[in-house]
Amino acid sequence: MPNHDVELLAVGAGPSNLALAVALEELAPQLARDSLIIERDSDVSWQRGMLLPEALSQVSFLKDLVTLRNPRSKFSFLNYLHDTGRLNEFVNMGSFVPYRVELAGYLRWTAEQLSMVDLQLGRECVDISPIWTDDVLTGWATKTADGRVIRSRYLVVGVGRDARIPQPLQGVAQQRVIHSTQYLQRIAQLRNGLPYRVTVVGAGQSAAELFSAVQNDLPECRPTLVTRSIGLNCYETSKFNNELYFPSFVDEFYIARPEARRQMLTEMRHTNYAGLAPSTMDSLYRQMYLDRLSGRDRLRMITMHDITAARDDGDEIVLELTDRRTGAVQQLRTDLVLLGTGFSELMPRMVRRLAGSLGLSDITVTRDYRLAIDRPSTAACYLQGVNEATHGIADSLLSVLAPRANDILQDILRHQDAAELATPDPTQVSASIAG
Ligand SMILES: Cc1cc2nc3c(=O)[nH]c(=O)nc-3n(C[C@H](O)[C@H](O)[C@H](O)COP(=O)(O)OP(=O)(O)OC[C@H]3O[C@@H](n4cnc5c(N)ncnc54)[C@H](O)[C@@H]3O)c2cc1C
Repeated sequence: MPNHDVELLAVGAGPSNLALAVALEELAPQLARDSLIIERDSDVSWQRGMLLPEALSQVSFLKDLVTLRNPRSKFSFLNYLHDTGRLNEFVNMGSFVPYRVELAGYLRWTAEQLSMVDLQLGRECVDISPIWTDDVLTGWATKTADGRVIRSRYLVVGVGRDARIPQPLQGVAQQRVIHSTQYLQRIAQLRNGLPYRVTVVGAGQSAAELFSAVQNDLPECRPTLVTRSIGLNCYETSKFNNELYFPSFVDEFYIARPEARRQMLTEMRHTNYAGLAPSTMDSLYRQMYLDRLSGRDRLRMITMHDITAARDDGDEIVLELTDRRTGAVQQLRTDLVLLGTGFSELMPRMVRRLAGSLGLSDITVTRDYRLAIDRPSTAACYLQGVNEATHGIADSLLSVLAPRANDILQDILRHQDAAELATPDPTQVSASIAG
């Protein structure tokens, strides 16, 4: 493909695009050798802001990058354990859920095993533009932070979702606001002996983990958990509902009517969001209990309150909390806000900008995750991990990674065949990269 640097460029080396890299190497070696993954960080990891030493993954190790597609793969989590000499210990643990740090190690190991797909670390994508050749979309020009541009026919965006920062907190000094995605990196930069007043916002697993972790990381701090809900709940673990995380459920969800999709997402919400793992809940309650027992009175929970405003006041942030029951307003002065508020439901900014430059009013993908573009095209773009609204609640999780990588790969292979026939003759037309 002389007009392109690589046939396929994947942005982000998280689980989604690593699963794709594995599928490429196993099923399409020729395309694999013409594929590049770029990752903004200097190494491969997983949820690095929340790689807390004792945090567990919430899904089975069998939902790794490949096993549900190819249980015989050398890229499996089990082979990682075997290769690193820890298989016996893991089996002896008798647990299906690995530690988060182990999964990060597995992803790093997988990246090292790739022999065909090129993976370049420390390359942040800052912009993507469509390449037009005589009104036909023929590729993508991806600009990286070092100023270089990578041209590809296929683009797969797997950059995760954007952090959700509650609106009132967007206007205050951001050095005192830490979203969970940044927690470990930024907490390490604070002087840990100071008696910070810390406000943790949220009622899900991340908020609970932040509330626990900060007690160790800033031993003199006084954390307060602020939630809108009436209290903390465990996430739902019904095995029946868990079947909705099966890869086969994606088809059922995709063909469902809009109101049925909404119902399923609403009912499934408590299986993933806004809930705690039972072990986290138990440990959190014990922390509160011991705090009261010791009379230290260091930990606080404020439930059923909205943060309705926030402002800087010298070195403090003043939060305005509105009681959902009575409407009464109180102020909470704090030195640090930790956000366990999850992720935006919107498409990532990078995708929205790209859609804007394509003139798309709606961002939708096909069943095979290909961005719908209503213009003549010999190129294609795929979105990973951001299609919960059309592909179901498992889309942002590990559960569907392996089969999804195959769906995308097979679509690219079919599209490649068709696009070869439709590619304009490069000697007859002039190409332009739209801004
Ligand atoms: C704390 C936490 C715990 C979780 N635990 C679980 C769990 O137990 N089980 C589960 O199924 N799911 C879990 N999830 C959901 C999680 O989203 C998925 O497991 C998975 O990480 C999604 O993979 P991804 O590759 O789509 O996105 P991500 O894992 O977010 O990876 C995106 C990658 O893209 C890179 N990147 C971002 N922007 C750019 C750019 N501009 N240029 C280049 N590279 C870029 C990032 O550095 C990152 O490496 C958890 C999420 C969080 C936040």
